[in-house]
Amino acid sequence: MKSLKLASLDVKPRTTIDVDGHTIGAELTVIAGPCSVESERQTVETAIAVKDAGATMLRGGAFKPRTSPYSFQGLGLEGLRILATAKAETGLPIVTEVIDPRDVSWVAEYADILQIGTRNMQNFSLLKEVGKCQRPVLLKRGMFSTLEEWLNCAEYILSEGNPNVILCERGIRTFETYTRNTLDLSAIPAVKELSHLPIIVDPTHSTGRLSLIAPMSLAAVASAADGLIIEVHNNPAQAMCDADQALTPEQFALLMSRITPLKQFLDQQIEVPDETE
Ligand code: PEP
Ligand code: MN
Repeated sequence: MKSLKLASLDVKPRTTIDVDGHTIGAELTVIAGPCSVESERQTVETAIAVKDAGATMLRGGAFKPRTSPYSFQGLGLEGLRILATAKAETGLPIVTEVIDPRDVSWVAEYADILQIGTRNMQNFSLLKEVGKCQRPVLLKRGMFSTLEEWLNCAEYILSEGNPNVILCERGIRTFETYTRNTLDLSAIPAVKELSHLPIIVDPTHSTGRLSLIAPMSLAAVASAADGLIIEVHNNPAQAMCDADQALTPEQFALLMSRITPLKQFLDQQIEVPDETE
């Protein structure tokens, strides 16, 4: 990938990013929380629960890019204020999406990590704008994008002067309809061959099915992903967005109790040289 002047593994050792004492790329990052911020109670209750279960960061959308213009679009500034309250209560850093280049500078005052959603992966004005600030950026893979297109979008951010880019595999569109998208697990080792940037996995939007979230989370960790981003809601039945795919706090805690020993086991393994290299 000759166009990668800054994102390529050839030019730099692996990137690690410090966020409030947590080092992305060096330890497993588990970002959990609701699809969208709906109320202070919903967000704070969920934040406390995911923190107790071992999450390292809180997610929650204040700006929701919805398929239909009539669907709930997010609380905007009020949502960001609620996220700030949840952070004050739990200490969890905030990951939240920005969808408009004009909002980047003020959303960055609330966000510890700015999320670029799949639908905006190639919104080049937005990429340039987040590239101009120093907040870490979580760049989701476009649902129709190749690895090369995705890494070139990371290159847009890096080339504006922001070195703090985290990639997020969130599934791509295939002919399969049983799942919401198809999780491309091979993207994890493939990206690690090509780039020094950390890569995390979204098992929620990639599958859209509760029963598949745990196995795909474990598979992502086993494939050396640097982290996960998982939707959790204190009362999924009442969720205003993506209700069918949100874990309850109890389901999330159970999943964390399986992820933690798997990660410890993997970290203890002595690296065996790959015969196929
Ligand atoms: C999200 O994480 O809130 C989201 C909308 O995901 P995606 O952009 O991957 O669809
Ligand atoms: Mn969602």
